[in-house]
Amino acid sequence: MSLNMNIPSQPYITQLQPYQPGLPIEQVARQYGLDASQIIKLASNENPFGMSPKASAAVEAALSEGHRYPEQFSLLQALAVRHDVKPTQLVLGNGSNDVLDLIARVFLGPGVESVSSQYAFVVYQLSTQAVGATNIVVPAANYGHDLNAMLAAITPQTRVVWIANPNNPTGTFLPSTTVKQFLAKVPPEALVVLDEAYHEYLSPEECEDTVQWLQDFPNLIAVRTFSKIYGLAGVRVGYGIASAEVADLLNRVRQAFNVNTLGLAGALGALKDNAFVQSSFEANLSGRQILVSGLQKLGLTCLPAYGNFVTVEVPDAAAVNEALLKKGVIVRPLVPYGMPNHLRITIGTPQENERFLSTLTNILR
Ligand SMILES: *Cc1c(COP(=O)(O)O)cnc(C)c1O
Repeated sequence: MSLNMNIPSQPYITQLQPYQPGLPIEQVARQYGLDASQIIKLASNENPFGMSPKASAAVEAALSEGHRYPEQFSLLQALAVRHDVKPTQLVLGNGSNDVLDLIARVFLGPGVESVSSQYAFVVYQLSTQAVGATNIVVPAANYGHDLNAMLAAITPQTRVVWIANPNNPTGTFLPSTTVKQFLAKVPPEALVVLDEAYHEYLSPEECEDTVQWLQDFPNLIAVRTFSKIYGLAGVRVGYGIASAEVADLLNRVRQAFNVNTLGLAGALGALKDNAFVQSSFEANLSGRQILVSGLQKLGLTCLPAYGNFVTVEVPDAAAVNEALLKKGVIVRPLVPYGMPNHLRITIGTPQENERFLSTLTNILR
């Protein structure tokens, strides 16, 4: 590394605080002198059951095409059928984080604003800042999005409104009628990003087909991911569903080969594996009930949980987190979110949930 790097950078890049991911298992093993196989990671909202068997098989089969540039056609077709939209309404991302970045590149820049909620997914702030725009953070209501306050924060400079539903890291959820009423009031010059990374974890009565709202709201983009219930977090595939006009703009700045061959194949395989999605959904639901009631029995307060994780208020969360790490249990401290008294716990396998609860019980005793 040179001692003097004299190239001036953009000040908004110099000030950018990079995303802090959940601690990797290998790092905790090294730091705490533990055997990696004894560590459980409940820190990144990954699917504890792995990739679906059909996705794994598809990824392995795709290895033989690794020397070819990837081709998005088949996955676009399959997603178009799945969502009853035209392929031209879709934009694929190297994870949905990539789609969020594309949105920022197309619609944001110096002199314009985006609006997000306090305690919302931190990538909205990062993607906005990375292109030199200003992110207006609106105070939360009970840790969730305050849509009326967000509406009031929209100005003529607002180009993007970010909404995570359910939200990460709080797990809070806005009913579809509330979101729809909000959409009707947002000026058509502002794009509403509905980030639905946890959509597939909603129960049927909570879950509305938000993609159909595009007919009424051309300034809407729904963002989905294969990282959560489909279990492809490491393979990196996400997508946006929007009007053909919005999708076209996003596809103009998208790298031609942003999703790799293995990701495309894995996503196609995952889409065909309804049994895996259904069993993951059911295990999540029962695991969530077990975690919430276990935490409540310890006298702790959980936020309403709608995704594949539970966010809980813990007195002395930093010390508890440290004690959990020493025992080989990785959860997510929410200090970077301004929630120093909360921990976020991803719902694991039944064995992992039990191990977490018994370890925590011993720590708090
Ligand atoms: C996990 C998550 C994402 C998805 O990230 P990927 O880039 O698709 O892995 C997006 N939004 C929210 C709110 C999330 O929690």
